[in-house]
Amino acid sequence: MGSAAGFFAQSYAEARARFVAAAEAAGLDVHAHRHPLLGRDGETLAMDVARLGAPDAQALLIISSACHGVEGYCGSGVQGALLADAGFHAQARAAGVALLYVHALNPWGFSHGRRTTQENVDLNRNWHDFSRPLPANPAYDEIAHLLIPAQWPPSADNQAQLAAYAARHGARGLQTAISAGQHAHPQGLFYGGVNPTWSQQTLRHVLQEHGRRCTRLAWIDLHTGLGPSGHGERILACADDASALARARAWWGEGVTSIYDGSSSSALLTGLMWLAAYQECAQAEYTGIALEYGTEPMNAVIQALREDQWFENHPEAPPARRAAAKRRMRDAFYTDTPEWKRRIVEQGLEAARQAVSGLGAA
Ligand SMILES: [Zn+2]
Repeated sequence: MGSAAGFFAQSYAEARARFVAAAEAAGLDVHAHRHPLLGRDGETLAMDVARLGAPDAQALLIISSACHGVEGYCGSGVQGALLADAGFHAQARAAGVALLYVHALNPWGFSHGRRTTQENVDLNRNWHDFSRPLPANPAYDEIAHLLIPAQWPPSADNQAQLAAYAARHGARGLQTAISAGQHAHPQGLFYGGVNPTWSQQTLRHVLQEHGRRCTRLAWIDLHTGLGPSGHGERILACADDASALARARAWWGEGVTSIYDGSSSSALLTGLMWLAAYQECAQAEYTGIALEYGTEPMNAVIQALREDQWFENHPEAPPARRAAAKRRMRDAFYTDTPEWKRRIVEQGLEAARQAVSGLGAA
């Protein structure tokens, strides 16, 4: 394997081309699920899928990127490093574990430098039964007008009011209010939507096609933007189930955190994507993590998200200011340095190897 930094791209289009080339170099076919819209540079958008291993393999490991669009700069790089690692593929083959690389779950957000889908939806809050009442988030309702104010940058009064909210509810209370997911502010943050997004529908098809013949299923979903810079937090991405947590910790280490017991840097969230594993691959014993890499401090990340949403809501804003906001948004979810990338790849490869070991030993 060459320098880790060589796996990372500077645009969605470049990332997609690299993924396709890396899959082909590894002897894998790529199946493109075309997105209805074009990308920022006029390029084709797609959720691209490459599989290694037999269609009827008893164990399957999914490795996915760009659930949160712009976070795909990181995830795509990890996928490229894994695809180039012949030793990792040999380990999977020897263990009888099939690998399913899903590149750009949310290609629109990746291309446009947003965390959301084209519907302004957080794909990891979108997995609800929309025929039933959606969860309320009264805490978000209370501060919605402060998070995305009429003016940007926010006024001193706006900052004082948010600081007062944090003083009353704690930093964790503020984080939960903002990020838990909400369905009442379609031009706000962490919006879960009111129907299934294109990305949700397309991923369901992928899971139906690839995930219904295995008896053991694992999933590593690659994210960025939470926790210390360069550290990959392994967050349980399963139901609140003691046996799943025990399995995840046996595979990925005692450091696996959980949103259910407060051990994760993530708040308790609703409408999570990996619920799909239970719904679409119900025959399989499922074990998954989100591998969440730290970038910038939480305040900076939240600020970038607020600013990005403000510009999304204000198409009349000056292009130069918008471009500066886009740059801050990318920096908030992608640390474009060789050292960060080296650590990201190292931890991604370790987690993938651990998953293959866990699946193969069962
Ligand atoms: Zn994410």
